[in-house]
Amino acid sequence: MEKKVALVTGASRGIGRRIAAEFASSGFSVALNYKENSEAAKTALGEIERSGGSGALFKCDVTDHGAVIEMIEAIIARFGKIDVLVNNAGITKNRGILKMTKEEWDSVINTDLNGPFYVLKECARHMASAKNGSIINISSITAYRGVLGASNYAAAKAGLTALTKSAAMEFGRHNIRVNAVLPGFHNTDMGQKASKVYVEKALQDSVLSLTTDISELSSFVLFLSGMKTVSGQVFSWDSRII
Ligand code: NDP
Repeated sequence: MEKKVALVTGASRGIGRRIAAEFASSGFSVALNYKENSEAAKTALGEIERSGGSGALFKCDVTDHGAVIEMIEAIIARFGKIDVLVNNAGITKNRGILKMTKEEWDSVINTDLNGPFYVLKECARHMASAKNGSIINISSITAYRGVLGASNYAAAKAGLTALTKSAAMEFGRHNIRVNAVLPGFHNTDMGQKASKVYVEKALQDSVLSLTTDISELSSFVLFLSGMKTVSGQVFSWDSRII
């Protein structure tokens, strides 16, 4: 049977790397996108290949629309199609509003909102022709709750959640499902940049007094990608009540 193809952005490290491995272990060919960390990306692909999976690396800054167009063309040239997009790449640049620079605001909005829009748009063109596709945007609980000292991030993720619902409305007629997942706190490179106060509060607010498990999250993203009748939904993968 023809292999399905998944593109995971920000797959060199953290949550994206785990999700890419999950898709590969389920038989997908995986396109692993990253921005600059080639060593980490090679390690991520190496792990997939050693486990019997297949994939390829696509270095591309998702904030560069032209580069995104080229990346999507390169993926289509290599694998012939894109069945699933996991829009995962993201950054934080935390600072209180009064001290936040324009660069800190703009770069987070560019990476966490504009970039996912470019990738979603260019993937959806191909998915629409194929009359099939699943797009999962990795947002954040901060989209709903806000967060002290990271207004740029919360605003970008709120935008991404709204984009999810709007894209689902537009793309339903093409059989493209668009959903968002809000991971809980994960101790990735990004997680380690969160303030101690934020992490303590995440635990306090958890009704289970737990942070979330990355393998549960990646299994859920894989499962969601295969659902044919669910679109425009936002799934909080957390034990904090929104
Ligand atoms: P990491 O910092 O561990 O990894 C970030 C990944 O994104 C890397 O692969 C990085 O590539 C890539 N990336 C960053 N900027 C760009 C860009 N401009 N173009 C392409 N790739 C880029 O982050 P996490 O794994 O923690 O986070 C992944 C996603 O999950 C993010 O969207 C984040 O907002 C979200 N999330 C994370 C939570 C957490 O607690 N960690 C909680 C809720 C949501 P490179 O290695 O080349 O730099």
